[in-house]
Amino acid sequence: MLEYQSKEWLYEQYWNKGLSTPKIAKIYKIAQRTLYNWMNKFNIKRRTFSDYKGKTSYQWKGGIRKRDDGYILKWIPTNSLYAPMKADKKYILQHRYVMAKHLGRLLDDNEIVHHIDGNKKNNKIQNLKLMTRGEHIKLHKNY
Ligand SMILES: [Zn+2]
Repeated sequence: MLEYQSKEWLYEQYWNKGLSTPKIAKIYKIAQRTLYNWMNKFNIKRRTFSDYKGKTSYQWKGGIRKRDDGYILKWIPTNSLYAPMKADKKYILQHRYVMAKHLGRLLDDNEIVHHIDGNKKNNKIQNLKLMTRGEHIKLHKNY
């Protein structure tokens, strides 16, 4: 089986990495129509104009922005597995998203993702620790 014939792979390229369909088609030397056929078969939605709204150009920049409190927000498509964890309209907190993806499941409201080094922008999985709300409050009482 070729790579683009896997739903997960295609979804990753298109929705998480933000590659355009002409680009994906070019990399894999297939016709764009072939790619569309696969996307339809896998039920992968295509981006609409509103998915780009607020951007200065039509270029996809990965959908990353910083929130006023210093946390990083990541744009998430409505049909994403992790869409129920949205924090702000179409955005999800990146550290929670990284942890959820790592665990392969949604996080519930009682689960807190703590930044080990205290840097809210360092959202590498090695810097993140999953804790309960209670454990997290206790930890921050100590320092
Ligand atoms: Zn913390």
